[in-house]
Order: sequence, then structure tokens, then C-alpha cells
Amino acid sequence: MTPKRILITGAAGFLGSHLCDRFIKEGFHVLGMDNLITGDLKNIEHLFRLPNFEFYHHDVSKFIHVPGELDYILHFASPASPIDYLKIPIQTLKVGALGTHNCLGLAKAKKARILVASTSEVYGDPLVHPQSEDYWGNVNPVGPRGVYDEAKRFMESITMAYHTFHQVETRIIRIFNTYGPRMRLNDGRALPAFIGQALRGEDLTVFGDGSQTRSFCYVDDLIEGIYRLLMSDYAYPVNVGNPDEISLREFAEEIIRLTGTTQKIVYKPLPTDDPKQRKPDITKAKTLLGWEPKVSRADGVRITYEYFKSLPSEELTKQPK
Ligand code: NAD
Repeated sequence: MTPKRILITGAAGFLGSHLCDRFIKEGFHVLGMDNLITGDLKNIEHLFRLPNFEFYHHDVSKFIHVPGELDYILHFASPASPIDYLKIPIQTLKVGALGTHNCLGLAKAKKARILVASTSEVYGDPLVHPQSEDYWGNVNPVGPRGVYDEAKRFMESITMAYHTFHQVETRIIRIFNTYGPRMRLNDGRALPAFIGQALRGEDLTVFGDGSQTRSFCYVDDLIEGIYRLLMSDYAYPVNVGNPDEISLREFAEEIIRLTGTTQKIVYKPLPTDDPKQRKPDITKAKTLLGWEPKVSRADGVRITYEYFKSLPSEELTKQPK
């Protein structure tokens, strides 16, 4: 039987590279695409020798052409951490808008099913807690984070329009904070920031008073959720994340205990529009996909810490791209 063919955009990034691994393992022919703006070929170099993996160095905000048939598309290309999208706001808007449009056009032309990577950021600084998919969010379109949040909201909207008006088979996943190996130590997100500081012997920086909450999902759990949603027949958005909520102050304390660092927590002013609380309602994922997270924060954070410790020492002081 000829293997199914899947295009994964953002293939050299944190989540994209794990998706490439998973679909290779499932016997797919994987076409990875990335312009390497925040990603790193190191994440997928182990796949280059495989006959069922191809890599395309391409900006998906420009017209996409790939040869042959496609069964599936996973659109994961986009800067994803505030440190990135504050530095490259226009590219962030373009990949969420034009990049998604190009992927949807390709899905229509190839008669492929497409899943797009949306985010809990579509809920903005939520006024409803926990967040279920029927909450429309509280986003400041002209605030610094608006470039990411609104690009993803547009992404959802155009994806639904292609579903309704062109009968393209579409899936929308709303991903909540995910962590694991292949994150970048310097990407500014809480977990790599805390572990990086502990490994460098610096104090751990908490923004605000640290009472704001996040819910962290281990990458293997997320990848399973993406796989199940892609294979489902459900076109509306589905939250995938771990509802185990923790304040950032408590989380920093956990990292201090895990790493055994003797450093302390220091507090800095809260960035503009930083969400105060985040926790997914995963009722839909449970009922529709039979999915729920399996990896505890204790296990997932320990695996991620071991990964960061195994990196060459220059990674510890590397500046963001
Ligand atoms: P990442 O930065 O590690 O990966 C993104 C990849 O996309 C990078 O390899 C980057 O080079 C590539 N890329 C960006 N713009 C591109 C373009 N125009 N053309 C081609 N490639 C481009 O980020 P990630 O954490 O792996 O996030 C992947 C996706 O998942 C993003 O769409 C993000 O919005 C979404 N997401 C991630 C999280 C999370 O917790 N990691 C949460 C919610 C949503």
C-alpha cells in the first residue's frame, strides 16, 4: 500500500519536529516545510536520511507548491513565543493570515484534509475560567500580543470559511502551553526561562506577583491529541491542553526544588496584556477524541530538565535569533 502523504509546516520547530517524528512512526511519507525563522534544522536532522522524509526550505506566507498528491496538511508554521512575535510582528501576522490562506488553497487543490494550529491565546486575557471552546475571548487587537492573537483568530475564521464554502475538510486545534524537549532555552517562555536561569546559577525571574496561572501540557500528550483530532470528523475548534493549573510563583518554586539551585525568585513588572489565568476545559477532547493528558507535570518537567542539561554549554548563553 502506498503510504499516506502529509505536509507539515513549521517542521523544524518544537512541535513541528515532534509531529514529523510521530507521522514517520505511523508510516506516513512526510514533507516538512520551514523557513527557519525561529526553528532549527537540528530538530529534524535525524530524519534526513529516511526515504519517506523530504524537507522544503520555504516561507509559507508565499505561494506554496509541492509535487505529487497530499492526503493531509498540518499548518504549524508561526512564531509562537512572545519574545519572537514581538520581534517579528509583521511576519507573525502574515504567516497566520497569508500562510493559512496558502495552506488552505493547497488543501483545496490537493483534496487534502488540513489541521491548523490555533492557540489558547484566542481567549486573550480570559474573563471566563476555565476556558471552553464556546468562549469568544478577551483580546486587545492593538496591544503588543494582538499580532499573534488576532492572526490566530483570523486563521480560525478563514479555516471555517474554507470548510463552509469550499467543503475543505478542516480541523482546528486550540493548543494550551506545551513544553518538552526541543523547546529553546532562550524562547522567553516560563519553563525554559526558569530552567535556563537555574542552570546558569541566576535568580529566577517571575513577572508580576506570580499569582497568574498557566496549565502546562507535556509534548507527547499534545501530539497524541493532534493525531486524534486529525483522524476525527470534527471541524469546530477543540482545546487540547493539561488542566492541571499552577501559579507562576509555585512553578518557579517547583523548578528550584527540582534543580537544587540555591538562587531565589526575583519579581519584575508584568508585561502588557499578560493573561492572568489559563486553564483549558477539555470536555470536548475527552468526549469527542477520548483524549486526556497522561504525563504528570513532575515527570514531564524532569524529562525536559534532563534534555536541557544534556545540551552543549554554549546553548545556555545563546541569544534569541
Ligand atoms: P516554534 O517557533 O518552535 O516553531 C515554529 C516553526 O515555524 C519554526 O520552525 C519556524 O521557523 C517556522 N516558521 C515560522 N514562520 C514561518 C513561515 N512564514 N514559513 C515557514 N516556516 C515558518 O514554535 P512551536 O512552539 O513549535 O509552535 C508551533 C505552532 O503551534 C505555532 O503555530 C504556534 O502558534 C502553535 N502553538 C504552540 C504552542 C506551544 O505551547 N508551543 C501553544 C499554542 C499554539
